[in-house]
Amino acid sequence: MFNKILIANRGEIACRIIHTAQRLGVGTVAVYSEADVNARHVKLADEAVAIGPAPARDSYLAVQKLISAAQRTGAEAIHPGYGFLSENAGFAAACGTAGITFIGPSPGAIEAMGSKSAAKTIMQQAGIPLVSGYHGDNQDETFLLGEAEKIGFPVMLKASAGGGGRGMRVVNSAAEFSEALRSAKREALGAFSDEKMLLEKYLEQPRHIEVQVFCDQHGNAVHLFERDCSIQRRHQKVLEEAPAPGITDETRSAMGNTAVAAARAIDYTGAGTVEFIAASDGAFYFMEMNTRLQVEHPVTELVTGQDLVEWQLRVAAGERLPASQGQLAIDGHALEARIYAEDPDNGFLPSTGRLSHLRFPAETSDVRVDTGVWQGDSISVHYDPLIAKLIVRGDDRKSCLHRMLRALGETQVAGVTTNVDFLAAVISHEAFQAADFDTGFIERHQADLFRNREAVSPDILCLAVLYQILRRASLAKRAATSSADPASPWWATDNWRPNLVEEEHFSFDDGIGEYEVGITIAGDRHEHSEPDYVIRTGRQVIRASGRLEADGRLTAILDGTQRRIDVTEDHDHLVIFDSGNTCRLKQLSDGGHSAEEEATGNLISPMPGTVIEVMTNEGQQVKKGDALLVLEAMKIEHIIAAPHDGTVQSLHYRAGDMVEEGVELLVLADK
Ligand code: ADP
Ligand code: ADP
Ligand code: MG
Repeated sequence: MFNKILIANRGEIACRIIHTAQRLGVGTVAVYSEADVNARHVKLADEAVAIGPAPARDSYLAVQKLISAAQRTGAEAIHPGYGFLSENAGFAAACGTAGITFIGPSPGAIEAMGSKSAAKTIMQQAGIPLVSGYHGDNQDETFLLGEAEKIGFPVMLKASAGGGGRGMRVVNSAAEFSEALRSAKREALGAFSDEKMLLEKYLEQPRHIEVQVFCDQHGNAVHLFERDCSIQRRHQKVLEEAPAPGITDETRSAMGNTAVAAARAIDYTGAGTVEFIAASDGAFYFMEMNTRLQVEHPVTELVTGQDLVEWQLRVAAGERLPASQGQLAIDGHALEARIYAEDPDNGFLPSTGRLSHLRFPAETSDVRVDTGVWQGDSISVHYDPLIAKLIVRGDDRKSCLHRMLRALGETQVAGVTTNVDFLAAVISHEAFQAADFDTGFIERHQADLFRNREAVSPDILCLAVLYQILRRASLAKRAATSSADPASPWWATDNWRPNLVEEEHFSFDDGIGEYEVGITIAGDRHEHSEPDYVIRTGRQVIRASGRLEADGRLTAILDGTQRRIDVTEDHDHLVIFDSGNTCRLKQLSDGGHSAEEEATGNLISPMPGTVIEVMTNEGQQVKKGDALLVLEAMKIEHIIAAPHDGTVQSLHYRAGDMVEEGVELLVLADK
C-alpha cells in the first residue's frame, strides 16, 4: 500500500477519498486553487499545496503543477477523483513518466474509451450490443443527415468526446437537423475542444442502467452489480439507486457479464462503469464506459458493503481484487440524491452564493452524507454546483425511499437555491414509488414535480411573525445582560415583555403576493408565564406562543397544535424550513412596496457567466420566446428568450463578454 497519495480534485469527492485513505493509514495531500484556500478538503488532508488561480484550467487541470506538487510532497500516487483530469489519458501518461502511480486505468484504456465513437467500434468487435447508429469519421453534414434518415428519426446527436450530458441533441426530423448539429458542435467544441459527432437511434422511454466493474493487474475482473440512473435532467443524473428495480436475476447477470467482457476487451484495470441504455422490452445496449469512479458509486458501496476507493488504492498498489465474484452480493436497497445549488423552477439554473445556513441529517450506518462544504462556504461560478450527496440504505426499496424523504426533510440550506424540495417531490411521486420510470420521468411528470407556486400558508406567516417577535426579545435580553450599567432598566431581564400594547404589523412577499400580518399580546395572560400572542393574517386569527432557540429552532403552539420549524435569515429574506418544505419570505419594510421590476423591458442576467452567442441585432423585431442570446455558466448553457414580442432597442454585450449576475443584457421595447 502507498504511504502517501495526492488527490487531484476538490469538493465532496476529494473529501471522500481522503476519508478512506486516512482509514487505511495512507497520508493525504490536497491541492487547492485560490478559491479553495479554506475549503473542507484542504482542512481534512494531512498536507495541502496551492496550485494557482480559481479557473480550473489554471489549477485543477494544470497537469504540470499537479505532478510537481506530488513530487515535492513525496506522494507516490495520484487519485484524480471524477471530472477534471480523471479521464485524461495525457495526465495518466504524465504521471507514469514522472514515476507516480495514476490511480486508475492505463492511458491506453482511457484513450480507448475517451472517444465514444472509437469505444463503440471496439465494443462492436467484442460482440457487445450497440444501439444502431453511425460512429464513423465522416462528419459531412449531408452525409450525417443521410445516416440519420437511414437510422430513422428521432435520432440523438452526441459529442464523441462528450460527458456530463453535454454536446447532445435529440433531433426529431430532418428539418431540425442542421440547427441541432450546429448547436451540438458549438457546445462540444467549447466543452471538449472537439466537435466530432456520432449518431444514435434515440430510444423512447429507455432506462439508464450501468454496471460497476473492477479489474486488477493479475487478470481478475468482477462486477459489483448495477445502478439505475434513469432519473435525469438535461441528460444528467439526479437520483441513482441500486439495485435497478424490476430487473430479473437473469438480466442482472447478463448485464454484469457483458460489462466484464467490455472491460476485458480493453485490458482494463481499476474501477470502471459500463453504461447501458435499456429499452422497454428488456434489451440493453452499450452506451459508453466511464474509466473512473462515478459520482454515484456510494449506492453500490451501501448495498455491497465494499469501499470502492479502498479497492482502487489496493488495485493501483498492485494487490489482488479484495473479493471474488462469488463473494459479492446485494444486501438491501440504496438511493443517492444529488443536492445541487440550482433552481428547478427556473430551468435548473445554477445558483451561486454563500451557504449562510447548512444542516444535514445525522449519519448512521444507513444514512451517509458526502459533502465538500461547511456552513459559510461559497458555491462559486468556477466549479460544479454540487453541495452534497445524501445516500441512504434500507432493507427494501420502500424503506429506503422513506428514509431518504426523512433525510431530505432534515437537510437545510440557505444562501443559495437548491433542488432539495424538488428531489423530495420526485421521491414522493407515486410513479417513482411504484418504480414506474424511465429517463423521461421528470419531463413527463413536470406538472406534479415543479412547484405549482402555492401561496404561503397562514400558519407559516404566523410562525414568521412569531419568529420576528421572539428574535427581537432575545436580542433585547442579550443587550440587557451585556449592559455595563446594572442600574439600567435593561438590566432587569426576568420580567421582560415585548412591548406590544398595540397591534404591530409585518409584511412579507413570497414571490406570489404580499401579506400583512398583525400581532398583539393576548390580554388574559398570567404574569409569570410566557405570553400568548394573537396573530391576524387576512381573515384568520390564530392564538400562538413559542420558544426560540439560539440556533433558530422555533417551537410554537398554534391554536393548541405544536409546530417545530427552523428559521434563518438570508439578507432581507426569512428562510423557513418546515420538515422538507422550504419557504422564502422577503421581509418588506413599512407596509411593503410592489415589485414590478420584472415587467419592464430590461433583460437581466440570471447568473454570472459568459455570453457565448448573440442571436439578435439592434432594431430587430422579435417574437415572444425567440432566443436572443446564449449565456454559459458553470458549464451549462442558458438561453435568454424574449419574454414578449417587441423590438431589440439596445444590446449591451457581445459574444465572449463576461457578465455579472443581475446586469442588464439588452433592452427589449414593446413593439
Ligand atoms: P457520473 O457519470 O459519474 O455519474 P455525470 O454523468 O453526472 O457523472 O457527469 C459526468 C462527468 O461530468 C463527471 O465527471 C462530473 O464530474 C462532470 N460533471 C457533472 N456535472 C457537472 C456540472 N454541472 N458541471 C461540470 N461538470 C460536471
Ligand atoms: P454522457 O457522456 O454525457 O454521460 P451518455 O452517452 O452516457 O453521455 O448519455 C447520457 C444520457 O443521455 C443517458 O443516460 C440517457 O439518458 C441519454 N441517452 C444517451 N443515448 C441515448 C439514446 N440513444 N437514446 C435515448 N437516450 C439516450
Ligand atoms: Mg454517461
